[in-house]
Amino acid sequence: MFFKQIKLGLMENFSYIIGDSGEAAVVDPGWEYKKLIEACEKENLKIKKILLTHGHYDHSKDLTKLAARTDAEIYVHKSEDVKSKDFKIRHVEDGDEITVGKVKIKVIETPGHTAGGVCFLFDSKLLTGDTLFVGAIGRVDLPGSNEEEMMNSLKKLSKLEDDIEVYPGHDYGSMPKSTIGYEKENNQFMRF
Ligand SMILES: [Zn+2]
Ligand SMILES: [Zn+2]
Repeated sequence: MFFKQIKLGLMENFSYIIGDSGEAAVVDPGWEYKKLIEACEKENLKIKKILLTHGHYDHSKDLTKLAARTDAEIYVHKSEDVKSKDFKIRHVEDGDEITVGKVKIKVIETPGHTAGGVCFLFDSKLLTGDTLFVGAIGRVDLPGSNEEEMMNSLKKLSKLEDDIEVYPGHDYGSMPKSTIGYEKENNQFMRF
């Protein structure tokens, strides 16, 4: 399996590439989509799927361009405002599995920052979007946010194995990734 975290754009965003058996899924193509294509080409991976943790601009700005260039299917929760007649949108919900080569990516619904926010779990890695950052959490004061749902979602994540690696949607912390165990110890919002 190939996995890469790439920091792109003007807001410390992380995009991710998950590759296996010549196929790739790109997660949150907010910025500089050409760099994502280049990174996949370098590994001989064809972009088949685009996964969104949520629909905010900084995570999806380059979605249309990337989909047009690759003809990839877009996977997003139905409660997110991502619509297009021109592209193949697949709505995901809690417990769904998205396949990339032999890798199975599990969808975990984590509403709160947005109504249809999800995390993606595979190979002991958790892509947390704007739900959980290293040492912090996403904003809950935006239109569509819900603080109570956010707390429930964080509780849900805190029940995952301590050694699962946390890969956030922004580089806002002291390091680019952590673990569930680290967050439970060091993130005030993950202490229950
Ligand atoms: Zn967001
Ligand atoms: Zn964001």
